[in-house]
Amino acid sequence: MITRSPALLQRHDEAEPLALPPAWQAQLAGAIRDPAELCRRLGLDPAWRPGAEAGHGLFEVRVPEAFLARMRPGDPTDPLLRQVLPLGEELLPTPGYVADPLEEAAHTPAKGLIHKYRGRVLLITSPACAVNCRYCFRRHFPYAENAPSRAQWESSLDHLRRDPTIVEAILSGGDPLAASDRQLAWLVERLAAIPHLRRLRIHTRLPVMIPDRIDAALLDWLGSTRLQKVVVLHINHAQEIDDAVIDACARLRAAGVTLLNQSVLLRGVNDSVDALAALSERLFEAGVLPYYLHVLDPVAGAAHFDVPDEEARELVAGLREVLPGFLMPRLVREIPGEGSKTPL
Ligand code: SF4
Repeated sequence: MITRSPALLQRHDEAEPLALPPAWQAQLAGAIRDPAELCRRLGLDPAWRPGAEAGHGLFEVRVPEAFLARMRPGDPTDPLLRQVLPLGEELLPTPGYVADPLEEAAHTPAKGLIHKYRGRVLLITSPACAVNCRYCFRRHFPYAENAPSRAQWESSLDHLRRDPTIVEAILSGGDPLAASDRQLAWLVERLAAIPHLRRLRIHTRLPVMIPDRIDAALLDWLGSTRLQKVVVLHINHAQEIDDAVIDACARLRAAGVTLLNQSVLLRGVNDSVDALAALSERLFEAGVLPYYLHVLDPVAGAAHFDVPDEEARELVAGLREVLPGFLMPRLVREIPGEGSKTPL
């Protein structure tokens, strides 16, 4: 079973003084991790339970309460539930669906560092996520081997210091905001001390899963860095954005953060013009611009989410008829070895 234990992300925190954990950490630790409980809490027919147990055996369930509260009870087709409910289909091998669809293992010059694109490097900042998304292309990623420690971060920082062509550091994971503020402040301070680095980009789902994550301690280190700041959220459906998410986005914007969103086109979640248009409109209400709409990466266990390319193009053509250009996400695929995302 793939597990991402919150304990892992505290490995490098051993020397921190004891203090009351912030509210978001309690919510992170209290996320639902039992498929039977997930089914029970949502009032699902017991027939869903065996599949949920089977899928959980491959990639564990993790659903924070704040996300659960936005789901419709008793509805197995709920677009939020579908993203997190394990299914028996995940066990079916599908030709072309593999453990590492983006071949990231070939691009790790230092542990926890991925250098695929010119000018940008990606740091695996935390092995944990607030939620385990069933379609995640890193669902088989060996997080335990890439769990960051300060020593590993130092070696990643050395890589950045040596290469003046790198202008942007991308914090990714897992979810980088699952790391403690103390660790993130430490890392961002060192990144900001690298003269050729201009931008800090953070790929995160935490402000959506646990909006309380955007608290004063986070805004302190994020708001004070000299680096230009971009937060790329990951939201797939308008129903994910409630008032608490809108408030969290407002706090980030007030700290000087540019907010973008990337989605994955998912069968049964957002595979209609209406759903995609509602998502773009709701994102804009939250002050977030749609950025990418990814087609599914062919990761083993996620084939049931696939939307064929032709259908994806038709959806985007339909979307163009109802949305202004600035609310149109770019339909892209990530192809291993390519220097950038490939537009479809
Ligand atoms: S939050 Fe992102 S990295 Fe974590 S499981 Fe979901 S898609 Fe994967």
